[in-house]
Amino acid sequence: MADEFDYDVLVIGAGPGGYVAAIRAAQLGLKVACAESRETLGGTCLNVGCIPSKAMLHASEYFDAAANGTMAKMGIKVTPELDLEAMHAQRRDSVKGLTGGIEFLFKKNKVTWLKGRASFEDAHTVSVGDQKVTAKNVVIATGSSVTPLPGVTIDQKVVVDSTGALELPKVPEHMVVIGGGVIGLELGSVWRRLGAKVTCVEFLDQILPGFDGDIRKESNKIFKKQGIEFKLSTKVTDVAVNGEKATLTVEPAAGGEATTIEADCVLVSIGRRPNVDGLGLEKIGLIPNNRGQIETDHDFRTSVSGVWAIGDVIPGPMLAHKAEDEGIAVAENIAGQHGIVNHDVIPSVVYTWPEVAGVGLTEEAAKEKGEIKVGKFPMMANSRAKTNHEPDGFVKVIADAKTDRVLGVWCIASVAGTMIAQAAQAMEFGATSEDIAYTCHAHPTHSEAVKEAAMAVQGKPIHM
Ligand code: FAD
Ligand code: NAD
Repeated sequence: MADEFDYDVLVIGAGPGGYVAAIRAAQLGLKVACAESRETLGGTCLNVGCIPSKAMLHASEYFDAAANGTMAKMGIKVTPELDLEAMHAQRRDSVKGLTGGIEFLFKKNKVTWLKGRASFEDAHTVSVGDQKVTAKNVVIATGSSVTPLPGVTIDQKVVVDSTGALELPKVPEHMVVIGGGVIGLELGSVWRRLGAKVTCVEFLDQILPGFDGDIRKESNKIFKKQGIEFKLSTKVTDVAVNGEKATLTVEPAAGGEATTIEADCVLVSIGRRPNVDGLGLEKIGLIPNNRGQIETDHDFRTSVSGVWAIGDVIPGPMLAHKAEDEGIAVAENIAGQHGIVNHDVIPSVVYTWPEVAGVGLTEEAAKEKGEIKVGKFPMMANSRAKTNHEPDGFVKVIADAKTDRVLGVWCIASVAGTMIAQAAQAMEFGATSEDIAYTCHAHPTHSEAVKEAAMAVQGKPIHM
């Protein structure tokens, strides 16, 4: 196929969207290159996102369990001592192993890694560093970067973004997190567990926008109990850095009297924006929408023939697994197959303690669409959670009142991220709440709470 072009497919960006697209396209017999400007493959997710944050979350959970008496309650008396450098080393080690793994997979699948920044010359010609390559199909998978807060300079010392917050050389005394979204809560949790006082300033009247209302309220309560202080409906109007300290000026979101907060670390986590600058999109006549995203059709084709786009750079949740599934689908579509992503069933997980997870519609959104039935089951009544001393949280199943089809499942539980997979699979197969209720779940597992919440939709949970 590639006679008149150097490659059948050139993927720009080697994050979970791009590297997966490249590998699947190669598996389908296409000649593939992937341009990546970073030193290592894997994109935001493997280098400075999902993986290093989970390494710090996991390690800090152990520290917290030892420090806060959880282990002592189970008969294990320990006084933890923090070796932050060793904790960072195991984080770097995870990143190195996994990014190296992608390099191995590229070699195994004969995907050529073109090192350097890519920019369109025309729809089939792309310059990468100082070379020009041609491809029949180009997939834009350039991901996203931190949204800056106007007037606030990220110096990665006192004022950090998520990348800086993963690498702090010492535990801050007082960390102020701007934005009560996923990054703020995950990385705020890491440093709180390691001893920092953490204050979270959120513009909206509740944390975790996009999540189910009950879940947002309950998780706020749990994080507050753990010691994170929340200033909701509050905006930051200034951050002044003086040496190793910062003074934040905050005021009510609706306007009102300003107050100040002193901190030695400020994390800016108010969202991410698509990477489209410097790509030369103007040369191919591709205009991003007013949110800076590249629009595509259901098959991930952009408005320019031969140019496709996936992942954080297109609309939808900015999640690694969404990018990966789109990577598989776009490669299959380029190869003439039928690649599909069901954007109605994309799970979302916050890897705090306990974890917060959901898939499908929130109760609020489901109600707007029609009559619903809701079943809830508290983790306190789940035998495994109780035995493990993990009483916080609940599972909620939302079903269509007439057809009983499951529209959404939400949970807060120590292993909610794992539990949500069965809900996603059930929804993908069009399950009813009765289908889940009559599926045999192993005992004793946290997942039995999903079954009980489904039974509660019919008003018949057993253990409540
Ligand atoms: P990216 O992973 O951003 O990859 C894009 C790549 O393209 C980058 O490597 C970039 O260097 C490269 N690039 C950009 N422009 C060019 C160019 N012109 N030429 C060459 N290369 C270019 N998601 C989850 O699902 N679970 C999580 O637990 C999770 N944790 C996160 C934690 C943090 C701290 C952050 C910041 C994000 C997290 N995310 C998580 C989000 C996740 O990282 C992204 O959704 C995912 O990486 C998007 O994949 P992508 O392939 O679209 O883009
Ligand atoms: P986010 O969109 O999750 O949260 C940003 C928060 O900042 C929102 O609550 C918003 O209301 C608030 N905000 C916006 N402007 C503000 C301001 N001026 N002052 C105070 N608050 C303000 O964004 P994020 O936490 O930066 O994460 C970025 C992306 O990365 C998300 O889309 C997320 O999906 C992805 N991510 C995912 C995971 C995961 O899946 N576990 C982890 C980290 C990041």
